[in-house]
Amino acid sequence: MEKRYYQKEIETMPVEEIKKLQSEKLVKQVKHVYENVPYYRKLMEEKGVTPDDIKGIEDLHKLPFLTKNDLRDAYPYGLLAMPLKDCVRIQSTSGTTGKRVVAFYTQHDIDLWDDCCARAIVAAGGTNEDVCQVSYGYGLFTGGPGLNGGSHKVGCLTLPMSSGFTERQIQFMCDLKATILCCTPSYAAYIGETLKDMGYSPEDIPLKAGIFGAEPWTEEMRRDIEKTLGIKAYDIYGLTETSGPGVSFECEEQTGMHINEDHFLAEIIDPDTGEVLPEGSKGELVFTALDKEAFPLLRYRTRDICVLSRKPCSCGRTHIKMSKPMGRSDDMLIIRGVNVFPSQIETVLLNEGYTPNYQIVVDRVNNSDTFEVNVEMNPDKFDDTVSAVTALEKSLAEAMKKMLGINPKVHLVAPKSIVRSEGKAVRVIDKRKLHD
Ligand code: ADP
Ligand code: ZN
Repeated sequence: MEKRYYQKEIETMPVEEIKKLQSEKLVKQVKHVYENVPYYRKLMEEKGVTPDDIKGIEDLHKLPFLTKNDLRDAYPYGLLAMPLKDCVRIQSTSGTTGKRVVAFYTQHDIDLWDDCCARAIVAAGGTNEDVCQVSYGYGLFTGGPGLNGGSHKVGCLTLPMSSGFTERQIQFMCDLKATILCCTPSYAAYIGETLKDMGYSPEDIPLKAGIFGAEPWTEEMRRDIEKTLGIKAYDIYGLTETSGPGVSFECEEQTGMHINEDHFLAEIIDPDTGEVLPEGSKGELVFTALDKEAFPLLRYRTRDICVLSRKPCSCGRTHIKMSKPMGRSDDMLIIRGVNVFPSQIETVLLNEGYTPNYQIVVDRVNNSDTFEVNVEMNPDKFDDTVSAVTALEKSLAEAMKKMLGINPKVHLVAPKSIVRSEGKAVRVIDKRKLHD
């Protein structure tokens, strides 16, 4: 029978036991950080907390938060908890929201991270019979190295393609019979489009599953990719600060991502007050790394907004699940006072039969926000008359107004005129920042 878990005992451990394990690890980890990271010790002192106050996960709320600003303040070595001679790797964030931060890993940390990615690959049906094509970027970005390590652990034949050279990706995929594709969802969509342009249909390629993450993507986008590539598409989540991809991953149920709770302790807080919210509430995700050695962040605020759920899962895994983050709090645009997430626009576009190629342009003219969405016309509509195009633009703008509550100006642009993403897609151009 197909192997369903990578580390069965841990992945299906009864919840009470997981909590006990987390408590034991937390007590040790707080001591490790207090003793080795002066930056965090100072934050604890300011809050009047010592390691003696932390006896288990029920005391977690007593610890101070860490934010991306702390990481930037402490750059590069300020949060390091091990001597550099014991570290073997540095990775860095993509810098999506500002100055990059760096993270350090001991060999133990790399092993733990690779295990997390291996769990994700096995959950997507991966075994040592599979050829795993890793088309996330390699280098400082964690996507490539993380899935590469996981693929090795599972024993897949690993194809370290990195991103780019899309036609060659497809050539190798066919020649070397890749069965699992790992990349960002926007790159998966681009690979699907290129496949079609090259005259292939989904039946011509050997892929059966995809593991896509590192950026927000909607259910509509998932269905679109599953259709164009003829696969089952699984979500994977992570961030450099906590190691990289594999902090959580989807199982065959595709209803949220199991958080690897033996390594990462998750909380949901109110982003405005910092108050811990009960399970099932929507709020900001906060992680505590329970057994990382070199860069063990405690109560790190991710700025990702989601919901946690312990509802039993049909896959047998007991680890808590997080919903797809709808975008981070700082991806959210406030346009004329209304909150707008790019993912809402993606949903409308795919529901209305457009491709997921779009760009949002926001500006401020005469103290008022302008809101434009550029959308690629479908190739079969390209020859339509001006009046027909205007009518399409109007009807799309109306569909968006229904979803968002405000009216964008929609521009239909020529097919293939919006730049395709090989990594994380850039969906928003906010020119208002230039005026600030
Ligand atoms: P940066 O913050 O510079 O983009 P990272 O490459 O470490 O650096 O990206 C981590 C962030 O990417 C997460 O905090 C989250 O916002 C986003 N992310 C990662 N995986 C997913 C996913 N599956 N769905 C939505 N967002 C994701
Ligand atoms: Zn499951």
